[in-house]
Amino acid sequence: MSTGRLTIDLDAIAANWRALDAMSAPEVQTAAVVKADAYGLGVAKVARALAAAGARRFFVAVAEEGWAVREALGPGPEIAVFGGHMSGDTDMIADLDLVPMLNSIDQVTRHFEALPGHPFGIQLDTGMNRLGMEPGEWAAVAAVVLDQGPRLLMSHLACADDPEHAMNAAQLAQFIKMTDDTGVPRSLAATGGILLGPDYHFELTRPGIGLYGAQPFDEAWPVVELELPVIQVRDIAAGESVGYGNSFTAERRMRVATVSGGYADGITRALSGKGALFHGDTPCPILGRVSMDLIGVDVTGLDEIPRRLHLLGTQQLVDDIAGDAGTIGYEVLTQLGARYARHYARGRS
Ligand SMILES: *Cc1c(COP(=O)(O)O)cnc(C)c1O
Repeated sequence: MSTGRLTIDLDAIAANWRALDAMSAPEVQTAAVVKADAYGLGVAKVARALAAAGARRFFVAVAEEGWAVREALGPGPEIAVFGGHMSGDTDMIADLDLVPMLNSIDQVTRHFEALPGHPFGIQLDTGMNRLGMEPGEWAAVAAVVLDQGPRLLMSHLACADDPEHAMNAAQLAQFIKMTDDTGVPRSLAATGGILLGPDYHFELTRPGIGLYGAQPFDEAWPVVELELPVIQVRDIAAGESVGYGNSFTAERRMRVATVSGGYADGITRALSGKGALFHGDTPCPILGRVSMDLIGVDVTGLDEIPRRLHLLGTQQLVDDIAGDAGTIGYEVLTQLGARYARHYARGRS
């Protein structure tokens, strides 16, 4: 076996869901966001583990993603779609029993005409300018829409990962202004919003990234472990270089391991000459460029020839790699490659 081995801890995901659920009052429902194949971790297994932990409402980005979630969960749990009701979605929404979060007057019209009586929610724009109806649009249709009994009124925070940011309070005030006195359940908080405290919780929270062990949920259990096998080890002399473009040249005698894994596996080229892999607690720096399938690593300091090295695990979290690569944990997770041997563990409970 010469592919990397990715281990996903379903008990850690369940424990993270319970921990985030415990941060809001008992009457506040905690959903689970499983868009993008559960942030790259495998939506069927993840959704089932979350349902077993107690999640009853799931969110995906687009209707197509609802299929795998419905197949995993069977009838019953609510599956809501952030992207709303797009042209061409009607059959999926009906057949899979999805709840679109309608984002515009066009979507409201389409939904009411195509699927009268079918459940829906409304997404409102409170300043992020991404999805949802703006205050003026909402004012124009609110009475008609509320008459049809939406399941949820929701909006999304642009800066929730920065608790000090003035945008949080501004969006909160705008959301209250747009939804007060409607009597409809409301949702504003994703992971970052949960951490902002009870003012942001309303009737439903929608964590994603925190379930999968990454920032801004500092106390999350780590969820992913990624080990890359060492294919070959060689000693090089001062003056020799490693990898494409000779971007690393040794200044002294060194031992270099070539590991199986590269940018085709989602290990971004931005880690070239930057990050490290780990042998136990010992960091082994990446030497030269990350190539498509291979990475050169400095193992000079080790007293044995390693058979495999860790890119992700307890020594190095998703956000550590993201920091080295100049990106965010969300991107590291969703880029995890299809070539890894994937294992689902039940590590903790
Ligand atoms: C992705 C997303 C979430 C989940 O956000 P996290 O930061 O991953 O917790 C919640 N709501 C909306 C609208 C989203 O797009």
